Amino acid sequence: TGTHSSMLAAWNEHVHTRPHDPAVHYFDTTLTFADIDRAADALAVALHDNGLDATDRVALYLQNDPQWLVSLLAAWKLRAVPVAVNPMLRAEELRHILTDSGASTLICLDSLYQTVVAGIRDGTALQTVLTTHPLDMTPNATVPPAVAHQVPARTSFADTLDWHTLTHRYRDRRPEPATPRPRDIAALTYTSGTTGRSKGAMNSHSAMVHSSTVYARWWDLQPERDVIIGLAPVFHITGLVAGFGVHIISGAPLVLLHRFDAEAILQAIERWRGTFMIGAGTAFIALTTHPALDAVDVSSLTKTPSGGAPVGQALVDRIRARAGWTLRGAYGMTETTSPTHLGPPDIDPPTDPDSGALSVGVPVPGAQVRIVDPVSGRDLGPGEPGEIVVAGPMVVPGYWRLPEESAHAIRDGWLYTGDLGKVTDEGWLFVVDRIKDLINAGGYKVVPRDVEDVLYQHPAVREASVVGVPDEYRGETVKAFVSLVPNAAVSSEELIGYCRERMAAYKYPRSVVILDELPKNASGKLLRRELRNG
Ligand code: ATP
Ligand code: MG
Repeated sequence: TGTHSSMLAAWNEHVHTRPHDPAVHYFDTTLTFADIDRAADALAVALHDNGLDATDRVALYLQNDPQWLVSLLAAWKLRAVPVAVNPMLRAEELRHILTDSGASTLICLDSLYQTVVAGIRDGTALQTVLTTHPLDMTPNATVPPAVAHQVPARTSFADTLDWHTLTHRYRDRRPEPATPRPRDIAALTYTSGTTGRSKGAMNSHSAMVHSSTVYARWWDLQPERDVIIGLAPVFHITGLVAGFGVHIISGAPLVLLHRFDAEAILQAIERWRGTFMIGAGTAFIALTTHPALDAVDVSSLTKTPSGGAPVGQALVDRIRARAGWTLRGAYGMTETTSPTHLGPPDIDPPTDPDSGALSVGVPVPGAQVRIVDPVSGRDLGPGEPGEIVVAGPMVVPGYWRLPEESAHAIRDGWLYTGDLGKVTDEGWLFVVDRIKDLINAGGYKVVPRDVEDVLYQHPAVREASVVGVPDEYRGETVKAFVSLVPNAAVSSEELIGYCRERMAAYKYPRSVVILDELPKNASGKLLRRELRNG
């Protein structure tokens, strides 16, 4: 689908043809394509002077700030490899990514600098640390006090460089022109670590051009008409592709928000007349249960894919009733550079007659999909559940420095997703659940997601997560964890009763625990793993 040889080539076209158009809105400041490109040029020269070369890794440990985009472009200008790091990671986890990626340079927020110092110790290849303040790109922005005071003052260390000084010192300098090749790594992104330790996925320029173009065409994004709301965190493949990628390919302006704050996001949608926003279901829940929704006009937002985790009919109905948004499915993973399936904008997806689950969509251009029996490896027909196996230009060649895991996951170009699913005759995909999460209750296979879907139908339930826990008699038994909508009052016994009336005896949860918040990772995924481990 994509017509550009690299993400940088796509970016350069905007810089040449429409340099003074708005590229990024951040707080009350607007940065043009030329503004961002100039900063990226200066940063590229600065990083190069400090030892960063082609194929070297530069870790980005930032929030959703304009510096992320500038750093990404600067890395591409040097044919270096940006490594996307989740800013919520603590020292130990940061060290895993720094060691694994072998990054020699790290760009981080001031407020994360202490974590970097704690995380480095021995064993990393890190040589240069560049710190930045959230407002380094937009010094005149008016920042709400709630955001301003979350940002501690810059910490100065002798071996640490800072963004502001560097970009001033290198102002108006330009790097030697370098052209990324289609197979160069455009970003090393890490899987969410939902099922285990996160792995680095080598997302190439060609894959990112492909996936970004898929989104931009699927939703017909146009620079004059559309505005992208950067809800999803950009360190994750979803936000990276459906935020920065789609912005770079379509040229539509991108609204960045320093961190997830429901009220600020709702206000940004109204203020910038946002039209396109991707997010996890949990993020949409947070927005549509926030009281600030009643005070804003969010009707401009008509293009709302939701991916990364299951979204059921009950949730779709609730969000449409509250905000007027119609969520559409988006299925994919870090290893597929975001989507392999999307819900068509103007067709309501079918419902699986067995489970009541909503289809996540149909294959995007270039995606091939098979459903394979996990035991025999045989291909299965429409309606038969099996492992989802995908191929196409969006699939990574492998994991970074993990040859065994790569060979296991990707065989002859086909990626074995570890997800259980089925397709209809017409190619609609149902994601049943993760194969690893299926519960074996006395020989009966329980799909946790089916139980969650029933819990979501209860009006008091805000979020639900279902796991198997060891049981003396059945081997495993079904246990549910829920959080409640504000001001709702319901007991565990009532919720168990509600489920028992609506599902087979082996399926309904034997215990329901009500928590204030369910554990989730920074991409908004509920972490069953943490609940299972207590
Ligand atoms: P890890 O691989 O490290 O355990 P992860 O699989 O959560 O973490 P990601 O690449 O962020 O890492 O997520 C991809 C997974 O998310 C898919 O394999 C699938 O299980 C789930 N997923 C993505 N989109 C959807 C969707 N629309 N509906 C249901 N599940 C989805
Ligand atoms: Mg995974």
